[in-house]
Amino acid sequence: MEQLLDAAIIGGGPAGLNAALVLGRARKNVIVIDEGLPRNRVTHESHGFLTRDGIKPDEFRRIAVEQIRAYPSVRFAADIAVDIAGADGDFKISTKEGRTYRAKKLLLAVGKKDRLPAIEGLTDVYGKSAFVCPYCDGWELRDRELAVIVKGEHILHFAKTILGWSDRIILFTNGPHELTDAQREELRVRNIPLHDGPIRRIVSEDGMVNRVELEDGFSVPCTGIFFAPTLVAGSDLPQALGCELTPTGSVATTNALGKSSVPGVFVAGDIATEMNQLIQAAAMGAMAGAGINAELLAEAWEARGQMGQG
Ligand SMILES: Cc1cc2nc3c(=O)[nH]c(=O)nc-3n(C[C@H](O)[C@H](O)[C@H](O)COP(=O)(O)OP(=O)(O)OC[C@H]3O[C@@H](n4cnc5c(N)ncnc54)[C@H](O)[C@@H]3O)c2cc1C
Repeated sequence: MEQLLDAAIIGGGPAGLNAALVLGRARKNVIVIDEGLPRNRVTHESHGFLTRDGIKPDEFRRIAVEQIRAYPSVRFAADIAVDIAGADGDFKISTKEGRTYRAKKLLLAVGKKDRLPAIEGLTDVYGKSAFVCPYCDGWELRDRELAVIVKGEHILHFAKTILGWSDRIILFTNGPHELTDAQREELRVRNIPLHDGPIRRIVSEDGMVNRVELEDGFSVPCTGIFFAPTLVAGSDLPQALGCELTPTGSVATTNALGKSSVPGVFVAGDIATEMNQLIQAAAMGAMAGAGINAELLAEAWEARGQMGQG
């Protein structure tokens, strides 16, 4: 029978790794199971994390793992958690490689995945000159001629946001949209061009975009792109476990320490927030690590009391 660990952390991005650091320092036996596909892996540089501004995602992870390895009660498994059975106090995690781990508590730090719009040429520029988050990469694209590709109800909000980094934006809806006449007028009076025809392709060289071509033959020069991807959960595990979701599809938490609606299951990082940033994920991981430790300490206290009475 496998050892009953204190916690299993599914996902080794900043959320899972910061939780592992907190739990390792709290002398807890922990396994970090990580598939190794963090959301920002396409980028050359990460921004906005104090003391780490401009760091390569791989280097960020290398430093994190090296520091956590100082705490021998934390182990790492390069694997995918595919199934979780059991309940608070004894979860059983099965992996793709055929291993099983048992843990009293669970942290789901599985992140989110970006589904890119099906536009020819977009993957060539993604992470190089096309990005999803202006807080992450807006500074690098500041003052450029920016194509902003967005659909749905967030068109105006996205346009307003990107204007914070460049005055020169061109909106593309890549086909039919739901803008009202009044909203189109809002764009017109602000001199923001709107192209609502389908995009044929994005033309680039070495990852640097130089124009967006529309199906009708129109070609629009630009030197950067922001687009709105569709976000999906990094794994089905939170839903399979019955974790409640928020209306926007994140996993709901019942306290600031990342406790989910399922006893013994904590969540941290992108999977549980709309503010998708490395520092936010790391902070949520630290909080969840403390939350898990608090539950383990409370349970140990109870058990000690019962032993004393026996
Ligand atoms: C293009 C791009 C650029 C970005 N740039 C920045 C930036 O400059 N600055 C910034 O602050 N933020 C940036 N972000 C956002 C940032 O990447 C995320 O906020 C952050 O990675 C979230 O951390 P996380 O730990 O929640 O998830 P992730 O970092 O995505 O890590 C989740 C991990 O869980 C693993 N996983 C999922 N399911 C399983 C499973 N079943 N079993 C095992 N492992 C599993 C995944 O493989 C992955 O390794 C960027 C995002 C994108 C898309």
